[in-house]
Amino acid sequence: MLTKASLLLFSCCLIPSIALAEVSIEKQIVDQVNNQLGESQDLLEKLVNINSGTMNFAGVRQVGGILTNQFDSIGFITQWVDGNEFDRAGHLVATYESTKNPTAPKILMIGHLDTVFAENDDFQSVTDVGKNRLAGPGITDMKGGDVIIFAALQALHKLGMLEQLNIKVVMTGDEESSGRPLEKSKKALVDAAIWADIALGFEDADGDINTAVTARRGSVGWTLKSSGNAAHSSQIFTDAVGYGAIFELARILNDFREQLSDTPLLSFNPGIIAGGTRLSDRGSSIIESFGKRNVVAQTAIVKGGLRAVSPEQLVNTQSAMQQIVAQHLAKTDATLVFDEGYPPMQQTQGNVDLLALYSKVSVDLGYKPVSAVNPRNAGAADISFAADHVDMAIDGLGLMGTGGHTKDEVADMTTFAQNIQKTAVLLYRLSMFKKERQKN
Ligand SMILES: [Zn+2]
Repeated sequence: MLTKASLLLFSCCLIPSIALAEVSIEKQIVDQVNNQLGESQDLLEKLVNINSGTMNFAGVRQVGGILTNQFDSIGFITQWVDGNEFDRAGHLVATYESTKNPTAPKILMIGHLDTVFAENDDFQSVTDVGKNRLAGPGITDMKGGDVIIFAALQALHKLGMLEQLNIKVVMTGDEESSGRPLEKSKKALVDAAIWADIALGFEDADGDINTAVTARRGSVGWTLKSSGNAAHSSQIFTDAVGYGAIFELARILNDFREQLSDTPLLSFNPGIIAGGTRLSDRGSSIIESFGKRNVVAQTAIVKGGLRAVSPEQLVNTQSAMQQIVAQHLAKTDATLVFDEGYPPMQQTQGNVDLLALYSKVSVDLGYKPVSAVNPRNAGAADISFAADHVDMAIDGLGLMGTGGHTKDEVADMTTFAQNIQKTAVLLYRLSMFKKERQKN
């Protein structure tokens, strides 16, 4: 983890009392957001109607291109980070550095251009399903969040307030299926986070406008392989033959469950399993096996995932799992390998303070307070790669709705205007904080 030389210090109190002049400025911001709402919704529909499944590189670039033009139009410096090195389309990075207010905190805003819907999916476009709801692939996850980012900045630009801010927007092209190695695919995001003091994520999180994410569990894949002596089944459990690969795998999985399943905020799931005389592993989700009822299994494999709330919990769990694996049944062997994964976004005081600030904005604008999501209900997301490098981070500020990652993905458009307003006002309030050097 990086420790930063700079830390945000709020000189008087976390939430400044809002003077009357500021109230009227904030009203102007809200009015500006509302005036451009039709334009914002048009942009959203245009983006959702372009397929940008992660592996449809042309589509991801097209969505990125439209947003690039938008950010160019409000004075950002834009860059397309090519994804060739990690076998993905690439990322959009848009930067605005204030010349008028260089001490303003540096804010990273995170979106993603890709969706889980492939080019040949039948869910491809926006439909009005009534009651202020729009269905569409990736509308909440997370083209809605992308447009919220842009629309908030556009409103501040029109009012001449963008000049008070230092902003970097990173919209990745591979959030739904990250390019590998992660060191390369997440570099643009991590570099931006190293630059930034504050990170804001615009995922739809748990779909509730009254919650935001201050902590997310990290996610890592694992593969467990076991081996045993192939022999006639009548000889199993003898000293010469032992227990076979499948009993060894079953022992390990059962011990994982018995010893670790009660650990708070930890979860691990064996998702696919196969065993027998021969296996052929066809990639991440297909394994073929051949075996006979009367032959002791020679080989077995299980692939799973694990979610942990902190790096410590991850390391402790990994070592407990390895200890379980090492206690082999007679005449068997097994190995457990972990993939590189998503780091956890840890609950920090900075994140809690930033959420309080955001919640205050919400209440001041006449909406409900915003509280923290239970980390168990927050999936892994790009902000996890940024959170360790900033003083404060929250996620889940995007367009709300239901049915993400399914053909029933529907956005609640009443949350669209609200969250653009809240984001724009939050940025305005953050622009008034001064960054001070921490003496150490
Ligand atoms: Zn997403």
